[in-house]
Amino acid sequence: MGIVGAGPAGLTLGNLLRQAGIPCVVLERGTREHIETRPRAGVIEHRAVQMLTRHGLADRLLREADRHGVCEFRVEGRAHEVDYSSLYDGQTHYVYPQQEVVKDLVRAYVNSGGDIRFGVADVALHGIRSAEPALTWTSADGREERLDCSFIAGADGFHGVTRRSIPAGAIQEFSHQHGIEWLSVLAEAPPSTHKVIYALHPDGFAGHMLRSATVSRYYLQVPVEDTVENWPDERVWAELRKRLALRDSDWTLTEGPIIEKRILDMRSHVVEPMNHGNLYLLGDAAHIITPVGAKGMNLALHDAEVLAEALTAYHRAGDETGLAAYSETCLRRVWRAQEFSQWMVFMLHRSPEPFLSRLGQARLEHLIASGSSAGYFAQNYVGP
Ligand SMILES: Cc1cc2nc3c(=O)[nH]c(=O)nc-3n(C[C@H](O)[C@H](O)[C@H](O)COP(=O)(O)OP(=O)(O)OC[C@H]3O[C@@H](n4cnc5c(N)ncnc54)[C@H](O)[C@@H]3O)c2cc1C
Repeated sequence: MGIVGAGPAGLTLGNLLRQAGIPCVVLERGTREHIETRPRAGVIEHRAVQMLTRHGLADRLLREADRHGVCEFRVEGRAHEVDYSSLYDGQTHYVYPQQEVVKDLVRAYVNSGGDIRFGVADVALHGIRSAEPALTWTSADGREERLDCSFIAGADGFHGVTRRSIPAGAIQEFSHQHGIEWLSVLAEAPPSTHKVIYALHPDGFAGHMLRSATVSRYYLQVPVEDTVENWPDERVWAELRKRLALRDSDWTLTEGPIIEKRILDMRSHVVEPMNHGNLYLLGDAAHIITPVGAKGMNLALHDAEVLAEALTAYHRAGDETGLAAYSETCLRRVWRAQEFSQWMVFMLHRSPEPFLSRLGQARLEHLIASGSSAGYFAQNYVGP
């Protein structure tokens, strides 16, 4: 098995295949240090943690992660808590930065004798429709290398090489630009809250996400095609203070040095099917989603679990049922998540069309006031 990409998807797959006794090689463009320190997601769903736990991959996560089952919506300066955990079987999120997930998965894979090559270049796929596909690449020390395998897993993210190796017309691509943009900010600032905050303000959405005791992530809705240069640190903090402000409260925002600022591409993209010949795509290589509902990494982990089970059944008994159903099984969850994220995007953002902005606010007010709407939110946010 050749796996391209050592993100959460590729590394989880690698670990699960090794546990099943299936030989595999993971190829990663970055260095180990780079992938283990790249901050991105931070919220893991209950079921993903259960899956990692079943495979002995969650020991540190279970020791160190904070569990969250309540979030807060701020509308017109008033705070409204939603206890989504109690609305959905007591399930919670685990707050654990993505780079820590990657660190744990690399360590487990390497400690079990797994073969992973960092710093590779020029990865190319050959014969993906044949029974013996191959990968070629240039190693970190400049050698040309080749792996003949039975299957290739494309876990190399949205900009990777594997999806682009599929001939035009063999897969259908669904893409949607949500008409909004986010400035994403990471700061060395202790959280100013114990729960995630989503704020709807006349000037646009603001979010305060949790990462660790010393680092927090914030989001600001900014005009489409805005640039990071327009957002010096003082402007970021002033805008966050304004959009997150509470009336009749002494709540304050704790500030700190900003360590990352980027404009996020608020686009969704899904390919169907998620396989072609003996190439199976997983994670961001097959689908991307806005970070609004915190689903991207969770979908990547789910794909890895489904593919590992399918390959294990094939390896043990020649059973191809799981492989044949792989794409359909994953896409069902992917489209559910896309629908929910779209629902949240609409609810939480200012649209250039004032009518649509008011509809979004009406949706949020309904969520705050109605048990059934809050139940829908809870089920999709922390599950299903
Ligand atoms: C700011 C931000 C916040 C986010 N917040 C959340 C959140 O709260 N919750 C959530 O669930 N998701 C979140 N996400 C999404 C999440 O980070 C991704 O969905 C997740 O990283 C997908 O994992 P992956 O393994 O599919 O891909 P990646 O993590 O992108 O891994 C792909 C790997 O492949 C490697 N690679 C690429 N090309 C090649 C090549 N040609 N050859 C070899 N290797 C290659 C890359 O270096 C990389 O290591 C967030 C994303 C961002 C950017």
